[in-house]
Amino acid sequence: MQEQKHILETKRYQQTDTIVIGAGLSGLIVAQQLHASGQRVICVDKARGTGGRLSSKRIETASAEMVAFDLGCTSFNALSFSFQRQVREWIDEGVIAEVPATKVATPEKRYIGTPRSSSLTRHLSSGLDIRFGTRVSHLEREEGRWVVYVDSSAGKPATSMFICDRVVLAIPPSQAAAMLPADHSLKASLASVNMVSQWVVVLVTSANFSLATQREMPDSALIARCSLENSKPGRDSGFTGNIYQLQATSAWTKQHIDAAKEDVIAMFTEEFKRCVGSDIDVVASYAHRWLYSQRSGEVVARQDFLARDDGINVCGDYMCNDPRFEGVEAAYISAIALAEKMLHACTVAY
Ligand SMILES: Cc1cc2nc3c(=O)[nH]c(=O)nc-3n(C[C@H](O)[C@H](O)[C@H](O)COP(=O)(O)OP(=O)(O)OC[C@H]3O[C@@H](n4cnc5c(N)ncnc54)[C@H](O)[C@@H]3O)c2cc1C
Repeated sequence: MQEQKHILETKRYQQTDTIVIGAGLSGLIVAQQLHASGQRVICVDKARGTGGRLSSKRIETASAEMVAFDLGCTSFNALSFSFQRQVREWIDEGVIAEVPATKVATPEKRYIGTPRSSSLTRHLSSGLDIRFGTRVSHLEREEGRWVVYVDSSAGKPATSMFICDRVVLAIPPSQAAAMLPADHSLKASLASVNMVSQWVVVLVTSANFSLATQREMPDSALIARCSLENSKPGRDSGFTGNIYQLQATSAWTKQHIDAAKEDVIAMFTEEFKRCVGSDIDVVASYAHRWLYSQRSGEVVARQDFLARDDGINVCGDYMCNDPRFEGVEAAYISAIALAEKMLHACTVAY
């Protein structure tokens, strides 16, 4: 009560109906659905743009050329009827495209945002109030509402905060668990969900070497997957070299989780040369460690997780209750299920 009085007196807070934490695909889908139904929604993300694990990156080569690539997911599939229908809409709107069958190693059709992976989440952010560079540190329950505290280390004042009735946690499970109050009933369950970590290295090579495809690398204990980024739809930027996004195996990542980025790039480069049996001329490189890349097999088929009476709501790829669907499709299905549940709860309440 004392704290609440203090919060209200400082006026360094903003009130809204719902705060969505995470401007990745699942958070943006929920935010769009609530916004379309007339609710006040603010979406916050610690990053400088949308996308989360669908984000993209631009770097400069040794010859000062700018090159772009997808940093997380390099393409996704659509197996369910509902996601196939959504994918067709996004294709018609020009924000995603099918990756040509000759460039992928799977029998199913695969899709990707165009001209970048993040084009899809940028499209989904249209019309929404999104606060970037806003890292949520923790949540507190005050007089039947949620107080969402923003980390002062993200460059915001220490007392920057939001007050709302509902919070959507559209972030990886252990991060969601960490921000809930110590006595919250979901804290332990969320903390127990395992996600695999994954190093990703991008090697930009000059034109003297080409390996055109998205493919698995079964002979390597280090590199699980390779994607030729500039062969994907809409990537024709005039750059004459090749841009390879290489994803590590989870076992190798586990062993090298705290390795320095320069060492990781050096090990990937040597292994990639060995795998393709050729020397390569690297003109730029980039490494990123995804601490929470994808769920580790186990499905959190617990619908009671989804929407709590106290206003805590959860969605994300790990929350999809059908084991056939994963990654982007699972994130979409879980977000639609949550939005329906939240909208239904509001209808019943009125
Ligand atoms: C290397 C890699 C390869 C992949 N390959 C595939 C694939 O082939 N096929 C496929 O379907 N899927 C793939 N995926 C998975 C797919 O990208 C994800 O399932 C999907 O993008 C998850 O979306 P999301 O909205 O649930 O979460 P995320 O995209 O993780 O979004 C969470 C957001 O929350 C923000 N956030 C986190 N903590 C805080 C905080 N404290 N405060 C504020 N904001 C916060 C983050 O910045 C992020 O933007 C891959 C992922 C990676 C990393």
